[in-house]
Amino acid sequence: MNTEEAMTIVKEKQKRRWLHQHPDYNKKDAYYLLPRDDQVVIVRLRTGHCRLKHHLYTKFHIGDSASCPCGTSPMTVQHFLQDCPTHQNLRAETWPADTPMRDKLYGPMESLRRTAAFIRASGVAV
Ligand SMILES: [Zn+2]
Repeated sequence: MNTEEAMTIVKEKQKRRWLHQHPDYNKKDAYYLLPRDDQVVIVRLRTGHCRLKHHLYTKFHIGDSASCPCGTSPMTVQHFLQDCPTHQNLRAETWPADTPMRDKLYGPMESLRRTAAFIRASGVAV
């Protein structure tokens, strides 16, 4: 076995390990086609590593509570995208029909862009 063959085997092994460790990896994910600023918003919402109060308070003890300013629930990604009454009008303009979280965060390009636009229009930093 020469060095080139050995490198090929090592790379294949690393690739298989990476794919095993990232079972949700989807090469055709519209995320990769988004402009950078939309990618940042989407990945923060997908992972929950964001500046919404629930994450800041529970993870870093920043702020006085995890509650949303609306007072109805912890300020999570789920609450913000789906339920928060403060953003109900904007949500209805953005998504006239009920739209599941899965579509907002993992749907086609148009869905992801719409989600990023909703976040920007809300004025809330994620
Ligand atoms: Zn709320």
